[in-house]
Amino acid sequence: MKSRLFAAALTLVAVASPTLAQAQRAPQPVVLVRAGNLFDSEAGRMVGPRDILIRGERIAEVGEALATPEGATTIDLRRCSVIPGLIDAHTHLLLEQKGGEGLSDVAARDHVVQGDVYRALTAAGRAREYVEAGFTTVRDLGNSGRFLDLVLERAIDDGRLVGPRIYASGPGLAPAGGQMEPMPNDPHDLVNGEYRIVTGVEDARAAVREAIARGAEVIKMYPEATPQRTRLSVEEIRAIVSEASRHGVPVAAHATSDASIREAVEAGVTSIEHAYDVSDETLQLMARKGVWLAPTDPSLEMALEFTRSWPQQPPREEVEGHLQGGRDRLMRARRAGVRIALGSDLYFPYGPGRGAGSRATLDGYVEAGLTPTQALQSATWEAGRLLGDDGLGVVRPRAFADLVAVEGDPTEGLSPLRAPRTVIKGGRVVAGEIDACALD
Ligand SMILES: [Zn+2]
Repeated sequence: MKSRLFAAALTLVAVASPTLAQAQRAPQPVVLVRAGNLFDSEAGRMVGPRDILIRGERIAEVGEALATPEGATTIDLRRCSVIPGLIDAHTHLLLEQKGGEGLSDVAARDHVVQGDVYRALTAAGRAREYVEAGFTTVRDLGNSGRFLDLVLERAIDDGRLVGPRIYASGPGLAPAGGQMEPMPNDPHDLVNGEYRIVTGVEDARAAVREAIARGAEVIKMYPEATPQRTRLSVEEIRAIVSEASRHGVPVAAHATSDASIREAVEAGVTSIEHAYDVSDETLQLMARKGVWLAPTDPSLEMALEFTRSWPQQPPREEVEGHLQGGRDRLMRARRAGVRIALGSDLYFPYGPGRGAGSRATLDGYVEAGLTPTQALQSATWEAGRLLGDDGLGVVRPRAFADLVAVEGDPTEGLSPLRAPRTVIKGGRVVAGEIDACALD
């Protein structure tokens, strides 16, 4: 029986092999995109009409009035502006925290009441919302159970689900308790289900290797973890950064207090997430060391939506007053020369959807004082450089063919981003309509 099966398997291989070889030899699909006006994300300006030749999932050529190669499909976007696929450098596809819940409540719901399958299915819906809003890449930074972020990433990469490219961290490296409220006991091991608790310098190095071995492309670290009062030691922070750097993997540090931000920056992290209480002196150090800031502040419209479910909604002026600290910090960072990358950190329910929330975060940056062009660069050029892949956030040869068509000029105001007409990821239309921007 065994040998018959073996023979059958051999036959299958013999039949399958030529097909596989043919597939490998088959020419990649060729697409010519005609853009009405192209955004140069590095220079920060619209450069006029351009043609973009795509072979497979990458851009082959960008130029004016390119000839259409034989057999190529043409996508006419001449009535629209084209920007690189947007990037959210800080999100949580597998986390939803409702008003009034603590993170331990959320973990109890995810781990005990609903379970991983329900959690992954809801995350798949959020992934689709991202591409529909023009986000073709996200960095997912923890609160995703035991590596569910990497499962989601695989399903999208395999073409089973529509979603953005995901750069995932797995469970964040945290001090005792993670970000959970102090719990008298933890019979379901919720803390270890959401965080990788670090217990010393050698353990810190081991935790980095564990994450990388599972497929993490970024290390998420919590030098401090409010509402817990615990903190990683300076030695642990340094061990995490040096081990990640030996493996060529960037480190994103969750830090809100100036002391914590400073320890992380001095250790050599790639980005600081939040940085609510950062001093000008620390911002200058970040600028000197080329450390990015992901300012995770909502826009006024988002903040008003979040407070709508409160028993008593605060007046608009009060909500706006609460946003002022974050706006000041963003502009102080900008003046100090700190590189800014979009990070929505959106995990509250937001009616218009997750991708729309990331887009609205850019509105918040403009409310703070960035120009629309600078905000757009934070979600393209800057976020692409932060993620460390030359193929992200740019429209140039060898970059991923990730393109978003919008009506009007997004450098004059971000409202065109509210309704992306055509979204292309890796050379394929994944959202919107193929002919929504056609000239005729
Ligand atoms: Zn976060």
